[in-house]
Amino acid sequence: MPLLGCVDCNKVLSPTTEVCSGCQSQDPFGTKRREKRFKLVLLLMLILGVISVGMTNT
Ligand SMILES: [Zn+2]
Repeated sequence: MPLLGCVDCNKVLSPTTEVCSGCQSQDPFGTKRREKRFKLVLLLMLILGVISVGMTNT
């Protein structure tokens, strides 16, 4: 099994680790953060889409 590094403290952890044993991070591989950013980008695209549709209608 390949080992992964914690995104916060670079400590090498098993991929199944949920809490970093080095810095106690609850998101040692940044997956939750990535998900959050992905949703933010989707929301931004939706808003931009609504704005551009509104502009072409007027
Ligand atoms: Zn860590």
